[in-house]
Amino acid sequence: MSEKLILVLNCGSSSLKGAVIDSSNGDVLLSCLAEKLNLPDAFITFKINGEKERSELADEPNHTGAVGALLQELKKHGLDSRIAAIGHRVVMGGEAYSESVLIDDKVIEVIEQCSPLAPLHNPANLLGIRAAQAIFSGLPNVAVFDTSFHQTMPAHAYTYAVPRKYYREQGVRRYGFHGTSYRFVADETARFLGKDKKDLRMVIAHLGNGASVAAIANGESKDTSMGLTPLEGLVMGTRAGDLDAGILPYLAQSTGMDIQQLSDMLNKQSGLLGISELSNDCRAIEEAAEQGHEGALLALEVFSYRLAKYVAAMAVAAGGLDALVFTGGIGENSSLIRAKVVNYCAFLGLQLDEEKNLAARFGNAGVITADNGGAVAVVIPTNEELMIAQDTARLSGI
Ligand code: ADP
Repeated sequence: MSEKLILVLNCGSSSLKGAVIDSSNGDVLLSCLAEKLNLPDAFITFKINGEKERSELADEPNHTGAVGALLQELKKHGLDSRIAAIGHRVVMGGEAYSESVLIDDKVIEVIEQCSPLAPLHNPANLLGIRAAQAIFSGLPNVAVFDTSFHQTMPAHAYTYAVPRKYYREQGVRRYGFHGTSYRFVADETARFLGKDKKDLRMVIAHLGNGASVAAIANGESKDTSMGLTPLEGLVMGTRAGDLDAGILPYLAQSTGMDIQQLSDMLNKQSGLLGISELSNDCRAIEEAAEQGHEGALLALEVFSYRLAKYVAAMAVAAGGLDALVFTGGIGENSSLIRAKVVNYCAFLGLQLDEEKNLAARFGNAGVITADNGGAVAVVIPTNEELMIAQDTARLSGI
């Protein structure tokens, strides 16, 4: 099979993650992470053949500088001429895109137009696209949206019960995120279980620093827990997820916090960190909980209970449950959280197999419930970069 090397870029406001992936087999030939972009001490770290290298970006401490340094590194290893196309993670495609798309001027314009809905992400994604177009001129660029997979959600799932004019005039509706992961994991789950995905009613829990859950039936997203922004839904590392919106005016009045402070509180100081008063990191919380730390114990319980409630809600959206799927750093590794959630959901026919649950970790896929002929719970590792690389290869015609 001919080589299909794709450069995958994922740009944040002050960071850039990159990987060179062979889309025909998923091999990662090189990866990089640029940090502190737009600060004088910006730097980039490369990983290739198990070795790590670090370069300062002092001359051009921004996204363009990072992509330029990446090109130099690729040249050093003779990889530059082997890259066939570039795939970009783009967070928000609004209602314009229900699939990945080859980037042209019109696509850039639409990503720009969607920026007010994702002000932290889309402008950074555009910086990456423009830097790649300038530095790898002539190569095709593809946008892969976090939101596009969820464009199949029906209106009753994406409509907020606020005056309709805010949907019409401001685009206020539920969009959902983690779509690239859901698409990959839904396919992998069907393959792993030896079923056609059209015959599976799945609830997938993508549990990383950000966390969400989605209902997938007939291979399509029917509902998901994140909404207009990635703040809605589950308890996350530092995000609150669902709460009574009445808390906002209450706290504004009682503490004098303004909108920005309230937003920071909900996005950066809440979730596992806010409840435990210890850490946003699930592993650290589990370790503290083992020592009897009260905040950590409560944080794990609130996290698991909210997630279990959402699994049941998503089973409504999927029209039943054949497979509950865990993925993401927490979903793939935390047997404790999986056990709590599966036990809460026993009434859906799930029966935990403790041994199998403990065995599914470190990137191993596996069924974690007893074979009772009913619904199963399964761990399936995600690979968003590979999905982006595959879309990019397909749309670039290589
Ligand atoms: P991101 O959303 O940044 O991609 P990840 O998918 O890497 O995040 O997930 C990060 C989360 O996974 C962290 O909360 C981390 O503590 C958790 N995690 C990783 N390994 C384990 C483990 N062995 N047990 C519990 N949690 C873990």
